[in-house]
Amino acid sequence: MNRINHIEKTGVVNGINFDGRFKVKRWPAVAVVALGYFAEYPESDEEDPEPELVADESRIVVVMVGDDKRHVVDASDLTEIPEEGYCPSCGQIGCGHGR
Ligand SMILES: [Zn+2]
Repeated sequence: MNRINHIEKTGVVNGINFDGRFKVKRWPAVAVVALGYFAEYPESDEEDPEPELVADESRIVVVMVGDDKRHVVDASDLTEIPEEGYCPSCGQIGCGHGR
């Protein structure tokens, strides 16, 4: 099982608007939603058999608009885009659906 964990964020945190929509450097034509910080469980040991998730604030968990598959991207690769800057029906940037 390869589930991507995240610590959910809302509002603007460290300059990232988690309520907004973003463009990712490696997918320039697709709008994504930022869910929160990528997070991992540290190694468990006898003292702490159930460690809590630890956030990696340099990495953000995103899903493409209209999709639910999670991806991990560098925070520096995200560019916020305006509400009207992407297509609400397919999530593409500049597709021109319904215009
Ligand atoms: Zn479209």
